[in-house]
Amino acid sequence: YFDVSPPFLNRVIEGAPRQILKAVDGVSFEIQKGRTFSLVGESGCGKSTVARLVVGLYTPTRGALQFEGQNIAGLTRKQMVPIRRKMQMIFQDPYASLNPRWRVVDIIAEPLRFFDLTSGEAATQKRVGELLSFVGLSPKDGLKYPHEFSGGQRQRISIARALATRPRFLICDEPTSALDVSVQAQILNLMKELQRELGLTYLFISHNLAVVYHMSDDVGVMYLGKLVEVAPARTLFVKPRHPYTKLLLDTIPDLDMKGEERAPVAGEVPNPINPPSGCTFHPRCPFANDRCRAEIPQPIAMPDGAKVACHGVEEGRIPA
Ligand code: SF4
Ligand code: MG
Repeated sequence: YFDVSPPFLNRVIEGAPRQILKAVDGVSFEIQKGRTFSLVGESGCGKSTVARLVVGLYTPTRGALQFEGQNIAGLTRKQMVPIRRKMQMIFQDPYASLNPRWRVVDIIAEPLRFFDLTSGEAATQKRVGELLSFVGLSPKDGLKYPHEFSGGQRQRISIARALATRPRFLICDEPTSALDVSVQAQILNLMKELQRELGLTYLFISHNLAVVYHMSDDVGVMYLGKLVEVAPARTLFVKPRHPYTKLLLDTIPDLDMKGEERAPVAGEVPNPINPPSGCTFHPRCPFANDRCRAEIPQPIAMPDGAKVACHGVEEGRIPA
């Protein structure tokens, strides 16, 4: 359960310097060990905020955050250090997250040195070589600089760096969105392989439903900072219930990722500073009624494990 009002977000919103932005509100989900939970939604829905909350880059204003049975919400930076070793983040733009002036070997060795994980330089070099082979690169690639690699190779380098600390949990924020479709598939397959071999757990953030279908065990759909539907991936794709999920699914050309993405969902995403009353999706929803405009829907559990926050589904006006 997360709830956050990060004050620094206000600064980037012109004309509203004093307003509190509830970036994420009442978002509650569980990720099982060794599985992939994906968060999907249009840009600005709060997916990345949740990712940053999970790794402790943002502090929740209320709510709990459990990792391996321990509540980690509100831990200090120092208290988070041993936990950060077990959870690593992979970002959308590998180039921005790799120091251009460092050789790859030093980029990957940095977490090893920071957490003091190898004894001696020879052991560090050996481990870096091992990590490079893990991600399909050669130990010789360590001598080069990030600009000497393609986008896909750079993402392999960030994955190698993320794996250096032997994490159990990877938070991947749009890890392939900056890559060509064919390279995207290679990186996603590599991530799946690594998950199998190393028993990793993923929180996967993406706006691309085809990618999410390919990667996930469970999926949470976010709209304006709230989870509107959570379900096992198959259930969500075969039997979407929330009108927003249905709208999102209508935009996928096919699920094998060969086609181009279609235009984004029709209708504007409202301003998160001043969200619509009741169900925030009501201005775009063909099923909206007076109750929808007044009352915030709470998640309701379905018999097949899905959870849906929608009055229409609850009342049976929308087939579930
Ligand atoms: Fe549509 Fe009402 Fe359901 Fe919101 S609660 S998605 S407005 S039917
Ligand atoms: Mg984002």
